[in-house]
Amino acid sequence: MTNVERSGAGFTSTLDTDETVTSRKVLLATGVSDDLPDTDGFEEFWGSGVYHCPYCHGYEVRDQPLGVLVTNQHMVEYAKMVYNLSKDLIVFTDGQDVFDDESRLTFVERGIEIEDEPIIALNGSDGNLENISLADGHNVARHALFYPPPMEQHSELPEQLGLDVNEAGLVDATRSQRGIGFTSVDGVFIAGDASSGAPPAIVSAVADGYAVGATMNGELSMEDFEVGLQ
Ligand SMILES: Cc1cc2nc3c(=O)[nH]c(=O)nc-3n(C[C@H](O)[C@H](O)[C@H](O)COP(=O)(O)OP(=O)(O)OC[C@H]3O[C@@H](n4cnc5c(N)ncnc54)[C@H](O)[C@@H]3O)c2cc1C
Repeated sequence: MTNVERSGAGFTSTLDTDETVTSRKVLLATGVSDDLPDTDGFEEFWGSGVYHCPYCHGYEVRDQPLGVLVTNQHMVEYAKMVYNLSKDLIVFTDGQDVFDDESRLTFVERGIEIEDEPIIALNGSDGNLENISLADGHNVARHALFYPPPMEQHSELPEQLGLDVNEAGLVDATRSQRGIGFTSVDGVFIAGDASSGAPPAIVSAVADGYAVGATMNGELSMEDFEVGLQ
């Protein structure tokens, strides 16, 4: 879908084929895209050795030599979660000034190495991460690397519609007694990863899609009921 705009009491959407579709409501379930570092190998191993979600991929790599890439202070709590998966943990800061002395000590006291050298490349074979090359020339063997990338809306449609987004770039979703998935624009609904209302996981996206769909059906049914009175 390339465009969506208000027309009359509803919306007109233009598809990739230039066909147009009119509707009374719009549901966007357009997801997010991950803003990955352009480090060599990062994209290659994304989802097979480099992971964003300890809940999705953590169990399979538990107790293995793990790394976590922490490039700002907000990510420090995330690194602590990865420690729960494996005590063989190295925190990579990629040359960023992340830790003050006190928080650095809390990691070092737990036997967690902090590697401050910038990362040059991720290396491996057959889709498996094997080691991480650093700027000083040495390689660090790691079975998996965790990193929560910044995300952005996958689609321009939320912006076209002028939907409010939060500071994480997710479309603000509100709930009411009538249901969930309402946006700042009347008649437009949001579900799944693109929404502030659903944690980024398949099961949440499915559940959110179901509940927002039911909400929209409720809205349409009530509108039809009102029309039936006239
Ligand atoms: C590497 C990786 C591994 C993951 N592993 C897991 C896992 O193990 N378990 C888990 O629960 N979750 C996992 N996730 C998260 C999971 O993939 C998402 O939470 C889930 O896919 C979100 O579903 P969604 O339908 O909201 O969005 P998406 O799956 O992103 O689907 C949105 C769709 O909308 C399409 N789209 C966007 N704009 C337009 C447009 N203008 N017109 C038409 N179509 C459009 C996109 O192309 C896409 O197909 C993983 C994510 C990544 C990146």
